[in-house]
Amino acid sequence: MYTENVVIVGAGPAGLAAAQQLKLYGIDPLVYECDEPGGLLLNACSVINYPGASKGISGKELIKQFPLPERIVISEVTDVSRKERHYQIHSGDGVLNTLSVIIASGTKPRKISIPGVTGDRIHYCVKKLAGSSGGLVAVIGGGDAALDYAVSLSSGYTVNIYARGDFSKAVPHLLERVRLTRKIALYPESLPKNSFSEDIIVAAVGRHARVNFISEKLLSSPPVDGSFHMCGDCGNGIYRQTAIAVGNGVEAAMKTAGYLKKVEAG
Ligand SMILES: Cc1cc2nc3c(=O)[nH]c(=O)nc-3n(C[C@H](O)[C@H](O)[C@H](O)COP(=O)(O)OP(=O)(O)OC[C@H]3O[C@@H](n4cnc5c(N)ncnc54)[C@H](O)[C@@H]3O)c2cc1C
Repeated sequence: MYTENVVIVGAGPAGLAAAQQLKLYGIDPLVYECDEPGGLLLNACSVINYPGASKGISGKELIKQFPLPERIVISEVTDVSRKERHYQIHSGDGVLNTLSVIIASGTKPRKISIPGVTGDRIHYCVKKLAGSSGGLVAVIGGGDAALDYAVSLSSGYTVNIYARGDFSKAVPHLLERVRLTRKIALYPESLPKNSFSEDIIVAAVGRHARVNFISEKLLSSPPVDGSFHMCGDCGNGIYRQTAIAVGNGVEAAMKTAGYLKKVEAG
């Protein structure tokens, strides 16, 4: 027996877009979010590649355009598995069964360890640091996320960015912005480094799909009947952008609505 028609795991751009689209079909999904609605986008300093936002908008402002689902539970989903014709969801909130699942769980940061540096000095996102001020920050990484984090932090801190390479993989407009920001210094080809004198260290050295709560069986042979979808950053390899995540969420919702209609028709 099942108690839900659709469960969505994650309330980032992909999960919120899926929930909004399902609502158009009169379907009221149950959404689980283990942190706060908005996902990784809450860390983005200035998004300029989202349709309608070409003048630049912070991730925090952009996410306000996404309606919040009516039913959202702040709890971490710890296990998703298939049982006969439904799915079982385990979370901090209990266990329930659902006819279909949309996974929109995004990514997790790759963690680093630095000899002599305790873990509590290393941060992997900036949404809680940006807005505070004072002191020196080391950002580790040479990609877009590292540069974006540095720009966010430069309103309150002096920032040094250390990279293994030469920043040539970063988006040119972001690199230009960093170069023009007085409180940011770039240190290419400066890693590995054994110690950092900065007060705070922010690591942006890659991310990987956050799918460890999905059963091995579901991950290795996902059902193709329309009842199970993975959307957004968790299923997009290196193509991790908000517009793509939103499109995936809408598509997953449309396919899920089609599946539920078939089930209802028997
Ligand atoms: C610094 C930075 C700058 C960026 N700038 C841009 C930009 O300019 N333009 C652009 O298009 N994109 C940008 N991005 C990328 C963009 O933020 C992501 O592509 C987008 O947020 C992906 O959406 P998503 O919903 O797939 O995943 P996420 O946003 O990661 O959301 C996933 C959600 O699922 C939740 N979750 C995960 N596991 C569970 C679980 N087991 N149970 C319950 N909840 C769970 C998480 O807490 C999270 O809220 C940037 C990212 C960063 C880090």
